[in-house]
Amino acid sequence: MDDAEAERACEDLVAHLRTAGEITSDRVAEAVGAVPRHEFVDDSDRERAYEDRPFDVGHDQVVTAPRLVARTSELLEVAPGDDVLEVGTGSGYHAAVLAELAGPEDVVTVERRPDLAERARRVLDRTGYGGVSVIVGDGSRGLPGVAPFDRISVAAAAPDVPSPLRDQLRDPGRLVLPLGPREGPHELALFEKRNGAFDRSRHGKAQYVPLIGAHGFDE
Ligand code: SAH
Repeated sequence: MDDAEAERACEDLVAHLRTAGEITSDRVAEAVGAVPRHEFVDDSDRERAYEDRPFDVGHDQVVTAPRLVARTSELLEVAPGDDVLEVGTGSGYHAAVLAELAGPEDVVTVERRPDLAERARRVLDRTGYGGVSVIVGDGSRGLPGVAPFDRISVAAAAPDVPSPLRDQLRDPGRLVLPLGPREGPHELALFEKRNGAFDRSRHGKAQYVPLIGAHGFDE
């Protein structure tokens, strides 16, 4: 897939996500339209990179399907300059979309698997998102040294919001996390912190890998 083909495929993907109701704002359309998804998948998947489906990198499905990246990004309502934490870097694709929305320097993403973090670091550098911070660690603990955050995007499923993440969210602030048991089914949930309250709303079925860590599932 050459650059022109990728650009066309990416435009088609954005149009599809708009029709499907997953993209509702111009900002998210522009962000998804700007990130070269074919750079984030394995070479063998490049030709199919703009299909609305997840991909494996290594052994797991760690490149989230575009519809869920779009839905999460819409729910988060990221503004330029927001401090954003992503838990579960995987390929780095969603981190790049968040970087388009907030600005690369304002996004920090945590991945528990060092091999994936290193791979994502390389791809983000190569695609112009070198400002994003990629940290190896247990994101279920959040990042106490960097907190608080205006927006938190959790890309792995958990039965509830890890308490450190709840504490590290600013007021007002928004957090999106797939809720559910280890193997699913999962449901995307938006948590809004406002005037000390923490409200939850549900936003459709989803399938994610489990959040593994001190405030998630056992390894
Ligand atoms: N956002 C990614 C998809 C991530 S898939 C993308 O756009 O491609 C979920 C990732 O969360 C996996 O890479 C998994 O290794 C990671 N993960 C699971 N538990 C974690 C934890 N406690 N802290 C950090 N990363 C975790």
